[in-house]
Amino acid sequence: QKKKLARLRKTPAVTQDGVEITLLANIELPEDTAHALDAGASGVGLFRSEFLFMERSGQEHRLPTEEEQFEAYRQAVQGMKGRPVTIRTLDVGADKPLDSSDHNILNPAMGLRAIRYCLSEPQLFMTQLRAILRASAFGKVKILIPMLAHYHEIEQTLAMLEQAKAELTAEGMKFDPQVPVGAMIEVPAAALSLPMFVRKLDFLSVGTNDLIQYTLAIDRADHEVAHLYDDLHPAIIQLMHSIISTAVKADIPVSICGGMAGDIRLTRLLIAMGFRELSMPAALMPEIKQAILNTQLDLLQPHLKKILRSFDPQSIRETLTAMEQAGV
Ligand code: PEP
Ligand code: MG
Repeated sequence: QKKKLARLRKTPAVTQDGVEITLLANIELPEDTAHALDAGASGVGLFRSEFLFMERSGQEHRLPTEEEQFEAYRQAVQGMKGRPVTIRTLDVGADKPLDSSDHNILNPAMGLRAIRYCLSEPQLFMTQLRAILRASAFGKVKILIPMLAHYHEIEQTLAMLEQAKAELTAEGMKFDPQVPVGAMIEVPAAALSLPMFVRKLDFLSVGTNDLIQYTLAIDRADHEVAHLYDDLHPAIIQLMHSIISTAVKADIPVSICGGMAGDIRLTRLLIAMGFRELSMPAALMPEIKQAILNTQLDLLQPHLKKILRSFDPQSIRETLTAMEQAGV
């Protein structure tokens, strides 16, 4: 079985009826690119850059410098040998505190995290933007911004990026002036105002972990409510369907980089909805690819319609099982 999966590495993820699904890897550190290539990833869909800031044994109080970050991003970009690398800007706060004082915040998931934190620390953010831009001279880099919800946050972020580019140009530093910028769609407000994002950004990536947390008001880190965390809640299904439908109409690329993308129970549902790019931990990629290879997409449409009409969790689960058996 393992050997068979290894052989899958070079096979593109194409359905029986010829629709190609792009499989990307989620990474935490530059050295993870080796696993991503091993698994046959077409690129990195999510580089969680906060791990460069958090996993610093003995150096908790010193943030990585521009040079240190640049080296890490460049290593990741070169590690992927020409494939695109989507670097997400710092997503700290909530379950990923930068220092221990964050633990005192009453409701960290709703607090100063991710882009909110970065915009409140412009120097720290500028250092990261400069480092990412400099790495873009070494391969295909995309910049992904977490937790965006407001128009002014998008504008402020893009203005800072322009400033970083202007600084680098003045210093004679190389970077890709066309580096694509995208938004994580992980706050329900963002999912419900997608045209606002489409207008200003080059691509979207759905962060289903946070999207579910905020839509269902279930703290991801709270075990007491973990049983209520449900990716098949009708609200989540409707929201995912609305995101992909709007993105397809607007002709903007959209991927999924949250846990749903790597959940084999959901692969057929997501591609039936229209998602064509999935980013997941490399270890999950072979089985997801196998499921795609066994899928006849057009057979799934009646099942999808049924799921979209249903508000009964039990019936949704049954239809999902029927979808698994609808393959060949
Ligand atoms: C998500 O929220 O789905 C996501 C991919 O980001 P993280 O899990 O790092 O918050
Ligand atoms: Mg998230």
